[in-house]
Amino acid sequence: MRKFEGKKIVLATHNEGKLREIRDLIGPLGIDVVSAGELGLPEPAENGTTFEENAATKADAASMATGLVALSDDSGLVVDALDGDPGVYTADWAETEDGTRDFDLAMKKVEDALQAKAVSDPKERTGRFVSVLCMRWPDGHREFFRGEAEGHLTWPPRGTSGFGYDPVFVPNGFDTTFGEMTAEEKHGWKPGDKTALSHRARAFKFFAETCLGV
Ligand code: IMP
Repeated sequence: MRKFEGKKIVLATHNEGKLREIRDLIGPLGIDVVSAGELGLPEPAENGTTFEENAATKADAASMATGLVALSDDSGLVVDALDGDPGVYTADWAETEDGTRDFDLAMKKVEDALQAKAVSDPKERTGRFVSVLCMRWPDGHREFFRGEAEGHLTWPPRGTSGFGYDPVFVPNGFDTTFGEMTAEEKHGWKPGDKTALSHRARAFKFFAETCLGV
């Protein structure tokens, strides 16, 4: 596993919610971060069929455009009763006709799909958020870090914190949705902690331990 010895990273994302969370997580580690969005870099097309492929595409694009080490996140919601949907297409389920993203609509699509299959018992409404982080060096070397958070889907949506599908996801061991948690509660991790809660914080913990030696 290659260690990161530098001082600055480009975060390969244009998603404000992810950016906020990765900034929270990386903040205490003393690394300068700039995002692909802030640099005005174009968003690459995500044509992969795995989180790893899409994470690599985003990290490659940002690293090649800047000459910096890039950290990307590809993530999504995997629902067991929907055979893993929306999965790598989680962001696409929010696309509207005018090209914007509407996550109220996306959460309703997931709910409609579950109701179409008459899946109403929380025990059958299981799933997980997945986050794959890709660290990519200018010489092309990549390292991947996967984190998953198990839980179930609830309806109607609850809470206004977080982003995306947070208001319908209840992580195992909690009664509250990610949308009802503070950012600190959702991460459930800071440097040195032995456990993390969210998929992104779990992937980040793995990254921080193995790549940064934190
Ligand atoms: P992508 O990684 O750009 O393909 O987008 C993944 C999509 O998954 C995001 O647009 C969010 O809607 C959703 N997602 C990923 N992580 C989270 C999370 O922590 N909370 C809620 N939704 C998430």
